[in-house]
Amino acid sequence: MTMHTGGCHCGNIRLGFSTGLDPSQIEVRACQCSFCVKHGSRAVADPDGRLIISVKDETRLHRYRFGLRTADYLLCRECGVYVAAITADDNARAIVIVNALDDQGRFSQRPIPVDFDAEGKAQRQARRRARWMPVEVSFE
Ligand SMILES: [Zn+2]
Repeated sequence: MTMHTGGCHCGNIRLGFSTGLDPSQIEVRACQCSFCVKHGSRAVADPDGRLIISVKDETRLHRYRFGLRTADYLLCRECGVYVAAITADDNARAIVIVNALDDQGRFSQRPIPVDFDAEGKAQRQARRRARWMPVEVSFE
């Protein structure tokens, strides 16, 4: 496993994405939902990997929810960077935003546009359980 570090711009949120895959092998997804399009988001996840999110000041962590409200989109209130999304159910799974990683350039696959607007809630939760990765959020 290699850990790819990253975080928001001001340092309030730090990321550690652990994966056994080479970054060049990991599928990069460009979600076409209205939120991700506005951010130009490119996301990755390794279901066999892990994401660790460390937050210094929880009051400066924003959890944005919209649509089916089945995930939290994590943004830093201080610097505005969108870093990751986490499912809102018990067994949390996450994706990490490539641009928030320090070695973003190594995730070299051409982003695949993905559109999940037609999904129902159960379908969406099942897809995330299968394709997103385990996550741990800690507060310093
Ligand atoms: Zn920040």
